[in-house]
Amino acid sequence: MLAEIVADPEDLAARLAYADWLEERGECDRAEFVRVQVELAETAEPVGVRQSEQRTEWDRRAAHYDDLRRRERELRPHQQTPAVLWATQSRFGGSGTLTWEYRRGFVEVVRCRLEDWVGRPCNACMEPLEDVPHSMCRLCHGTGRIDAHGPAIVRACPVRLVEFTDERAVRGSMLTTTRHILWEFFRVLPITQNVHDSYSNAAIAWARKEAGLC
Ligand SMILES: [Zn+2]
Repeated sequence: MLAEIVADPEDLAARLAYADWLEERGECDRAEFVRVQVELAETAEPVGVRQSEQRTEWDRRAAHYDDLRRRERELRPHQQTPAVLWATQSRFGGSGTLTWEYRRGFVEVVRCRLEDWVGRPCNACMEPLEDVPHSMCRLCHGTGRIDAHGPAIVRACPVRLVEFTDERAVRGSMLTTTRHILWEFFRVLPITQNVHDSYSNAAIAWARKEAGLC
């Protein structure tokens, strides 16, 4: 079921079906959190009484909205973090280079360094032995990079936004020796664009392709 959500992050019906399944398994807090966040994402915050609206109707909507926000705050700390995020973060000794945010019940926002997402050049392949082809490399399995966590993260979470905490490094890396490692990544990124959404979209598209999701 999680696979369906990851395959189509915009399919909210799949998320609500997942919530029902969670509830049947007795995971009521998790189920409620998904429903609350999905409803919040689809509900505008009531800011003023519309002329066409009765005062009592507005009060009811405002009270319901406040309830949703309160339940979101109460339930959020109890959400079980996907194992891949803990595993990735613990590699950095919990230094906080990887953080995430829940939206619509799942981790949709990830903030990390570029190299955490696309990986670092494989040292063994950077200095290859003459008679060992890269495809035989036991460190990187022929990909030329190690510790690329993006693909594993998009396989486990319906990520919609990736923010690199070192955006200047993203630009600088186009000119450095790591460029060949990042070539596949930057190939889909128009160099003249500086909107951070384009980095995010390129990073997600790259990771989903690497993960075999498209
Ligand atoms: Zn290698």
